[in-house]
Amino acid sequence: MPKAKTKAQKAVMFDRVAFIGIGHIGSSMALAMRRAGVVESIIACDRSAKHRKAALKLKIVDEVTADYAKAVKGADLVVIATPVGTNAAIAKAIAPHLKPGTIVTDVGSVKQVVIAAITPHIPKGVYFVPGHPLAGTEHSGPEAGLADLFDGRWAVLTPLPRTPAKVLAKVSTLWKRMGANVDTMTPAHHDRVLAITSHLPHLCAFTVVGTATDLAEDLKQEVIKYSASGFRDFTRVAASDPVMWRDIFLANREAVLEILQRFTEDLAGMQKHIRRGDGAALEKMFTRTRAIRRGIIEAKQA
Ligand code: NAP
Repeated sequence: MPKAKTKAQKAVMFDRVAFIGIGHIGSSMALAMRRAGVVESIIACDRSAKHRKAALKLKIVDEVTADYAKAVKGADLVVIATPVGTNAAIAKAIAPHLKPGTIVTDVGSVKQVVIAAITPHIPKGVYFVPGHPLAGTEHSGPEAGLADLFDGRWAVLTPLPRTPAKVLAKVSTLWKRMGANVDTMTPAHHDRVLAITSHLPHLCAFTVVGTATDLAEDLKQEVIKYSASGFRDFTRVAASDPVMWRDIFLANREAVLEILQRFTEDLAGMQKHIRRGDGAALEKMFTRTRAIRRGIIEAKQA
């Protein structure tokens, strides 16, 4: 008679998970998977020897390699967690080594371009479920991995029309076991929502900090000295990974340009209120924006 499964064995969802890219998001996922006991073994493939060494030393993964084929061989889940501009080449390189039934997922901050880059390489019998956790910090690399990064945060899945319901349900369960709430939406909707909630705010932060950096030397000293008056919060956002953000703006160009057009018009409106000394209009606007912050706190997303 087969032995009854222990509680821990029942929790395991994947025997072998392969991460391509073990930076901030990849290592946070690996730690969250371990915390939930959903995986037996984890291998990471990363081009950075420093990151491979750190991921092993910190016991985030069991094995590391620089070889894509070795990483995905025998894996039943493959997570692509590198800047989105690398995804087509990675999908092409791993494709011949994926076994039938494997689930491939990703964490890219833009979905339409990523799907177009990865999908053509996915072999028959392998399932691709595009995903994006709406969580992260300005830090990079495996040292920035946090087991609780996704707790109470949203993970958005943008399934393809042909994604079997069972496969989508499995990836959804995985994110829930990693602590996240899960939503599904179309890739186009995802890219528009993220253009306003993430990409535009980052663009503003990069620009504000860039403007301050270009100021005359004497003023620059004071910008740093008195940064707590607002500037500091922008510098945290503007310290995010340059390569990752270069790829995001290139990949979500249309949605970002559309939102930017609206933003520029609204900014010109604010300029007009200030020039005309229209205090009532300014106060009305700031009252509306304050309410948004309260809503975020109430939704526990602060
Ligand atoms: P990260 O900390 O820089 O980690 C990425 C890792 O992938 C680095 O170790 C990098 O090595 C490696 N890598 C780059 N190109 C590679 C390639 N072709 N083959 C193998 N490894 C490669 O970045 P991250 O913050 O984890 O971001 C990864 C992905 O998550 C991005 O697509 C981003 O859009 C998405 N995301 C990020 C956040 C966030 O807040 N950070 C949130 C949600 C989603 P090198 O250091 O040598 O380049």
